[in-house]
Amino acid sequence: MFIIRSKYHLYCIIISFYLCFNGFLYIDQVPKFSNETIAGPNNPKLDANENPKLSLNGGEYSHYNLSVQLDDLTSTLTGVLKVDFYNNDPVNFTKLPFHIYLSGMAFISRSGIIDIISVNKSDISKKSLAYDEYPANQTMWVHLDTILEPLQRVQFEINFSATLPDGGMDRSNSHGDDFDHSRIYKCAGFYPTPCVYDSYDGWNTDPYLWVGDPFYYDMAYYDFYITVPKGMVVAATGELVQKIDDGDFTHYYFDPIHPVREVTFSASKYFYYDSDTVNGVNVTTYYLPKSQFLWENNAINYAIQALELFNETFGEYPYPTLNIVQEYTHHGGMEYPCQVYITESLDEWDYPLFWLESIIVHETGHQWWYNLVGNDEVDWGFLDEGLVCWLTSYYGEINYGNWEFFQYPPYIDKVRTYYTFEGLSSKINASVYDAVNASNYYYTAYTKAPLIFEKLRRSIGNTIFLTGLRLFYSQKVYKIALLSDLQQAMESVYGSSLDWFFFPWFDNFYLPKYNFLECSYDGNQQILNLTINDLSEPLNDYIYSQQVQLLIYDSSGLALDEWMWINGTTARTISLSNKPKKVRLEYGDEVLVQLYSEYETYIEKELEKPDKISGYGISILLLFCLVPLIYIISKFSINQKKKSKI
Ligand SMILES: [Zn+2]
Repeated sequence: MFIIRSKYHLYCIIISFYLCFNGFLYIDQVPKFSNETIAGPNNPKLDANENPKLSLNGGEYSHYNLSVQLDDLTSTLTGVLKVDFYNNDPVNFTKLPFHIYLSGMAFISRSGIIDIISVNKSDISKKSLAYDEYPANQTMWVHLDTILEPLQRVQFEINFSATLPDGGMDRSNSHGDDFDHSRIYKCAGFYPTPCVYDSYDGWNTDPYLWVGDPFYYDMAYYDFYITVPKGMVVAATGELVQKIDDGDFTHYYFDPIHPVREVTFSASKYFYYDSDTVNGVNVTTYYLPKSQFLWENNAINYAIQALELFNETFGEYPYPTLNIVQEYTHHGGMEYPCQVYITESLDEWDYPLFWLESIIVHETGHQWWYNLVGNDEVDWGFLDEGLVCWLTSYYGEINYGNWEFFQYPPYIDKVRTYYTFEGLSSKINASVYDAVNASNYYYTAYTKAPLIFEKLRRSIGNTIFLTGLRLFYSQKVYKIALLSDLQQAMESVYGSSLDWFFFPWFDNFYLPKYNFLECSYDGNQQILNLTINDLSEPLNDYIYSQQVQLLIYDSSGLALDEWMWINGTTARTISLSNKPKKVRLEYGDEVLVQLYSEYETYIEKELEKPDKISGYGISILLLFCLVPLIYIISKFSINQKKKSKI
């Protein structure tokens, strides 16, 4: 705590105050520089070579043949994964890791688990291969008996048994009851799933994550065989090629036709379903009887509308099937290749149709951003989520004429007031781990990132933005993408560097907070001297550039209304025949700045009071005021001391 102990301290404070204040005035009086600033490269610090080289993939893929049989009484799966692994990386491998995620998922009475029974070569020898299991991060490593060189293949089989988590509301579960026709067996991450190698992390063996999605997979061909008790309805990744009834069981064979990143299936005796075909894609919705009132006809219409819009906007969905399946979960929904899940709890929500549409559109959008164009969801989880939240709003704009139709509350209000209420930084370009540490993963990935994509659209124009997204899709379909790939695609269409946009908006910790550093009118020359700076600039790595609406008022009303670029500290000289009364930066619902309240969408400066008297600087006037003040205080102090001695 700072305590004033004597009059000398008081003098020091007054003099310091004077010097500081005078210093500001001095800054205010430095020669003006009237550079009309434009958007452009600022201070990029990232080296493009820091980006990882992710794949040598020349169109060849691994091939997996997965067979599982569901025992509905025990909620277990007996399975065989036949692996034909293609090394698309520039390194030799002697062992290969697989995720065995089930034991990381939520449960009520019994944990999920994948037990590895054996690993053996696929050839006639059926030779056993050694393997290690690491339960702490839910991985297993298969030891190869030869060195796997780049662009070479290796074949082996993993025999496993999987137990679904009982009752939990997570990515896999057996949940619900038979008596009310509500039981579903949902299987995701239920088999040993190959990890991804990249030059950034090496092998990505991250454990199952409670916040965010840990799913980062290479594309692969799958043949998917499922056996279930007779009478179950099965929804699965891929086209149904064969269905054979065999006594008490039914055998299904699904083929996604094109490479996918993983496969999933869900089975229930009670599923209702609606089906339709659009653009050659069979779209099917699966839901429980209790939700018929909500899902019937509605869900499939939403899915078809989303599929048609995103086909047209980004590029063609190549698979023959798309399933929308009801699930038990704490999330709104979850995406997998060719099949997405939507929470059954919507039945109880307010405005359930609104949410049903919003979540179906979101999860359908992940077919483009997550599956067809993949990304490391641990290190760059905001990329697919940000794009998908953006496209959900874009769907709202196309179908309801309002980009904010599905935003609750509007992203702009949440983002501009986030720091004020949460006291946290909000850098988007961060790993899930970093975002979790900052307690802002959902905010950065689901709210700020889509708003920044929208800002990019409004900055470079709708046509350039959408053409850039289509180019990004065509360049990265079936591959893994980085934010820098998206930037490069946008730059190809835009025609010049977009560092000035991407670096500050994705990498800075704080939003801009503008301030009138100088705002003075020179009556002799009839010029307004205006300098605006960004108070957040010292806290950030990059300088922001954006257009802000400048309003100038004089005694007769609005004298000037224009959009000006603010690139860091920006100075303007503006000719005005009348002395302005006030100058305002109006943020409206466009400009991204830090606000204290969503309702205070501007800053302004009054010019009513003269800051100079002809012939005198205000600092000199202050000096004249302060010296007598110090003298009076001093005299008063001496008198007090004299009295105390009496
Ligand atoms: Zn999502």
